Amino acid sequence: MSEQAPSPPARPTGRRKVELDPRLAAYKGVWVFIEHERGAAHQVSFELLGEGRKLADALGVELAGVVMGAPGEATRRFCAQAFHYGADLCYLVEDPILAEYRNEPYTRGLTDLVNVFQPEILLLGATTLGRDLAGSVATTLQTGLTADCTELNIDPENRSLAATRPTFGGSLLCTIQTLNYRPQMATVRPRVMSLPEPDTGRSGRIVEHPLGLVETDIVTKVLEFIPDQNRDQAQLAYADIIVSGGRGLKRPENFQLIWDLAKVLGAEVGASRPVTQAGWVSADRQVGQTGKTVRPKLYIAAGISGAIQHRVGMEASDVIIAINEDPAAPIFDFATYGIVGNAMQILPALTEAFRQHLA
Ligand code: FAD
Repeated sequence: MSEQAPSPPARPTGRRKVELDPRLAAYKGVWVFIEHERGAAHQVSFELLGEGRKLADALGVELAGVVMGAPGEATRRFCAQAFHYGADLCYLVEDPILAEYRNEPYTRGLTDLVNVFQPEILLLGATTLGRDLAGSVATTLQTGLTADCTELNIDPENRSLAATRPTFGGSLLCTIQTLNYRPQMATVRPRVMSLPEPDTGRSGRIVEHPLGLVETDIVTKVLEFIPDQNRDQAQLAYADIIVSGGRGLKRPENFQLIWDLAKVLGAEVGASRPVTQAGWVSADRQVGQTGKTVRPKLYIAAGISGAIQHRVGMEASDVIIAINEDPAAPIFDFATYGIVGNAMQILPALTEAFRQHLA
């Protein structure tokens, strides 16, 4: 009698319906951490309040801003701004220790707030500060964090956060849910979500909470803030017009044509990854999955093929003009206007035409 090989275990098919742990039901509300530096709130916080509002409405819960900082007029102003952009209430942690961002006291303040008031969702900007804080808060709370999300929704089946982000080098999107832990944390890069219209007539309530730390509890000290004078201060994320160059420009000296056109248009300069990696421009000018996400009114791409990793960083631009000598270049699939030709001839012609037109 011949023996048959055991059949392999059946692969799961389709979506698995998952019931939430009833203990998690105590967690309610959507929170947005309001990031600020040198007296100004970061716009990404307001973009997140716009998304947070939609999530809170879908769940039928309140939207809260979280403001932390030294006591003073600024923190109240950030709360007022949070209300204008959709928050119903603000949790406010004020202490002189929080004057400058340091990971330890901010992590302590935010994790304490979460443990006391138990939000179900906590959103932060994927900025340098936000990434630092989100990682340590998620680890301290032992909960799930989905970084660099491009879309946030509520799963109607189980009311959990469905956080979508690129994966496999940007070639796929995956949606991640944190089913067994709370809060569900996510970070979103600046400009990925649109900025809602502020309503200056909106107001809300402020819930104050103590920090409960003394300076000697904290091992890191901020001695001085020295702005980096040498850093190329690219303001790509919030630019209205961007002129970007890619490998099709062939030589670093040809990249000057991008600077020339940008200057005439009052635009910022962007680049694809091969260009920043070759050192033609600084890395903070890279647009794309591992660079900046931009959504200007006008994006001019010269000598850029339109690879998915570049596209995800700029496809939300209002108008995209592509200059490429290959009529089959992928960028023509999503550009608003396409110019087929040699960028080294077209860029100077455009610069001259705009110079005359705008004179
Ligand atoms: P190429 O793909 O080489 O395209 C050059 C284009 O120029 C071609 O379409 C060609 O037809 C055209 N051309 C040539 N000569 C001329 C001419 N004389 N005039 C006009 N057109 C001309 N890339 C990014 O940009 N940003 C990112 O954030 C990013 N992140 C990445 C992350 C990962 C994990 C990976 C794997 C890749 C990433 N990349 C990123 C790289 C990305 O996959 C592409 O390789 C890159 O975007 C290509 O850059 P490019 O279009 O300048 O160059």
